[in-house]
Amino acid sequence: MQFDDDADLDTSEVQDVRGSRIPGGRATVGGGIAGLIALLLGLFFGVGPDQLGLTDDGGDEPAASSSSLAQVQQSCRTGKDANAREDCRTVAVVNSVQDYWRQEFPRRGGRYAPAPTVFFSGRVGTACGAASSAVGPFYCPGDRKVYLDLGFFDELRTKFGSSGGPFAQAYVVAHEYGHHVQNLMGTLSRSQDGRTGENSNAVRVELQADCYAGVWAHNATRTPDESGKPLITKLTDADIRDGLDAAAAVGDDRIQQRYQGRVTPESWTHGSAKQRQDWFYQGFRTGDMAQCNTFR
Ligand SMILES: [Zn+2]
Repeated sequence: MQFDDDADLDTSEVQDVRGSRIPGGRATVGGGIAGLIALLLGLFFGVGPDQLGLTDDGGDEPAASSSSLAQVQQSCRTGKDANAREDCRTVAVVNSVQDYWRQEFPRRGGRYAPAPTVFFSGRVGTACGAASSAVGPFYCPGDRKVYLDLGFFDELRTKFGSSGGPFAQAYVVAHEYGHHVQNLMGTLSRSQDGRTGENSNAVRVELQADCYAGVWAHNATRTPDESGKPLITKLTDADIRDGLDAAAAVGDDRIQQRYQGRVTPESWTHGSAKQRQDWFYQGFRTGDMAQCNTFR
């Protein structure tokens, strides 16, 4: 994945609160085994930490410390920075994903409302409750923000056995924005009937977000930014393989096998490795969100 060195990044789409603390806040999903299991069994790439009842009273939104804000705003100015630094690359992916949806919605008679991504470390207060990094990246419909601890990208490799790679990370970001698109379209709430399992709405919503990530990937290098040129200039087959590999690594069956020693499809919330790969690829192959009807 290559960015146009001269492109301007829009850091206003990212709120960097790394290093700040929630005043008096208590992390709901702690570290250790309990936190890990919660993560593995449902929250991973999920929709808000509230789905498993793992919320407390929320806590206050932490104030961004000026030093960390300055970090992204000062360091991530151009595509060249995105080619060199992981945090800047994530800013660029957020920009590209939102450029795409901002242009795609009007083509379908809609209007896209942008959603910021919050970079946090440790724990964070959200409209969906307080959450720790252990829950993995998630989208909170309550405040329409994507929450991401960049440390998770290492876990993709170390805990989930994904090959990692820049595009694996891009897939994660694009998946979360898939949930935002669902929120804007009114499909996201379908996942909240409390049911789990292979054919549950929860799984269908997750697979659709994977498909939407693929749709973006298909269109990434031909989506102009504000300057009229695409921010992403190159996506290779190896990049797409990294995305597919990450999608498989976070399949419910892989995670259950790895951490629980057996596979229990009735408790799936995100879909199997194969389902996730298939739907990401369906989006990538067609580049058409209309081909992402996982509810059929
Ligand atoms: Zn998800």
